[in-house]
Amino acid sequence: MAHSDIDELIRLFSRLPGLGPRSARRAVLTMIRSREQVMQPIHNALGKAMENIKTCHICGNLDMHDPCVICSDDKRDDSTICVVEDLSDLWAIERCNLYRGKYHVLGGTLSAIDDRGPSQLNIEPLMARVGDGTVKEIILATNVTMEGQTTAHYLTNRLNGYNVNISRLAQGIPMGGELDYLDDGTLGAALKARLPF
Ligand SMILES: [Zn+2]
Repeated sequence: MAHSDIDELIRLFSRLPGLGPRSARRAVLTMIRSREQVMQPIHNALGKAMENIKTCHICGNLDMHDPCVICSDDKRDDSTICVVEDLSDLWAIERCNLYRGKYHVLGGTLSAIDDRGPSQLNIEPLMARVGDGTVKEIILATNVTMEGQTTAHYLTNRLNGYNVNISRLAQGIPMGGELDYLDDGTLGAALKARLPF
C-alpha cells in the first residue's frame, strides 16, 4: 500500500463520529499492523453490510432483512408503535430491554431552519400502519429538542381522529440527579409532569 493510500484511510476514518485525526491514525495503525486478525474481518464485515443492509419498508429500520427482524418478530406486540427520529434512538430503547412493541423510524425531524417538511420524513407509511386498525397506542419518543417536540405536535395533529392512544416519554429528573445541578428546563418539565405520591 502506497503511503497516500494509508493517508486516505486515515482521512476516511477521521470522518466517523467520535474519531478525530489522532484516533483515526491509531485505528488505521492497528489495522495495518494486524491485517489478518483485524483488517480482514473488518473488510469482510463491511463488504457484507454494504451489500445486504436494507431499509425496512414497514418501519424504516436498517437491517439485513426487509421486513426487519423487529417487524417480523411475532412475539412483539403489533398494537404499540414507538415513533423515533433515528436508528440510534431505536437502538437506545432496545438496549433498555423493556419495550416489546414495534417501531417507526422517521428519519429526522421537521425543521424550518433546514427546510425539512413532512414529505421528507417517513410519515405516510406510519399513517398507513395506523390506518389499518391493529395499532392501539403510539408512543412519540422524539427527542426533547425544539424540532423533536414540533415533530411530535405535528404527528399528534395528524393522528387526531384515529382510534389510538398517543403517549410520549416522561420527562424529568435523571436517576441520581440532584435538583441543584439540573438545568431550568429539565427541572421545569419534571415539575409539570409531577406524579401523585
Ligand atoms: Zn421494520
